[in-house]
Amino acid sequence: MKCDVCCVNDAIILQRHTGRYLCSKCFIDDVKSRILDEVRRYEMFRGSDKLLLALSGGKDSFVLFDVVSSIHDVSRLGVITVVEGIVGYSRDEDITWILSGCKELGVDYIKTSIKDELGFSLTELVDLSNKLGVDVSPCTYCGMIRRRIINKYARELGYDKVVTAHNLDDESQTALINILRGDLSRLIQSHPKGPKLSPLFIRRVKPLRKIYEWECALYAYLRGFKFQEVECPYITTRPTLRAKVREYLYRLEAVKPGTLLRFLNIIDDLVMKFLENANRLPDLPTCRLCGEPTAYNRSLCKTCELLTRVGVIR
Ligand SMILES: [Zn+2]
Ligand SMILES: [Zn+2]
Repeated sequence: MKCDVCCVNDAIILQRHTGRYLCSKCFIDDVKSRILDEVRRYEMFRGSDKLLLALSGGKDSFVLFDVVSSIHDVSRLGVITVVEGIVGYSRDEDITWILSGCKELGVDYIKTSIKDELGFSLTELVDLSNKLGVDVSPCTYCGMIRRRIINKYARELGYDKVVTAHNLDDESQTALINILRGDLSRLIQSHPKGPKLSPLFIRRVKPLRKIYEWECALYAYLRGFKFQEVECPYITTRPTLRAKVREYLYRLEAVKPGTLLRFLNIIDDLVMKFLENANRLPDLPTCRLCGEPTAYNRSLCKTCELLTRVGVIR
C-alpha cells in the first residue's frame, strides 16, 4: 500500500486519528510540523530565546531534542538532566546519548542529581518517608523536586524558557485529573498561556503536547533511537487516579481515535477564553525557608513542608 500523502513510498503505519496510511518520511514530517504548529500557536518561544531542555533520556526526550535542535539556534540551547537516584533504575545509558548529542552540536549540558542538590537520593527520601509514615508517593517527591531544581538552574543561568517533553497522553491525563479534582487553578496553569505567577518562575513550555506517546515512540525508532526503556520501579506506586484516568482515556481512544487530541484541544480553547477575560492574579508569596514561590496563603512551600516532615531540609 502506498502512502496517502506522497503516493510514492510504501506506507508503514496507519495514523488512526487521521485515518491515513503514511510512509516513514511523511510520518516524521507530520510529527515535526504539528510540533511547530503548536510552538507557533502559543508562541512558546522565539528565535532570540535561550532554551533549557529538561531531558530525562527516554524516547520523548529524544524527540524533543531532535526537533528543537533542528528548528532553534543551537548556540541558544542548553540541556539539563536531574538524576533521581532510584535503586535498580540506572540513568547511565540515557545520559550517554544526551551527552554525545550535546557534544556534537556544541550544546551546554548540565547533569545533576537529587542527591547532589538535597543530600538524599530519591530512594533514600522515599525510604525515610515510609519509615516516618508520611503518605506521599515517590512520583510526588520526584516531580516536585525535579521541577524546582530545573527552575533554579534555568533562572540562575539566564534561560528564558524551560522546555519539557510531556506528550499528548501525559497532558490529557493531567487535564482530566485536574477537572475530576475540581482544580481550576492547576487546569489554567498547565495551559501554554497560563499566567506566570512569580518572577522567580521560568516559563515551562511543552512542544510535544499534541503528539501521541506512540507517535513519539515511532518517531524515535525511525530516527534511529535505540531505546530499551527500563520502567521506573516506582511505577506501581503511581497515584491511582492517574493510572485509572490513563486506562479510561486509552479505552475511549481505542473506540474513537482522536479522542485525546480533541479533548486537549477543547480544554485549550476553553481555558484561552477564560484567560482573555480574567483579571491579572497577584504574584505568589515566597517560602520563608527556601525563598521559592509558594501557593497563596502559605508561608512554607510544599517541598519544604514535606522535607521538614521527613527531616531533610537544606
Ligand atoms: Zn509518504
Ligand atoms: Zn520552601
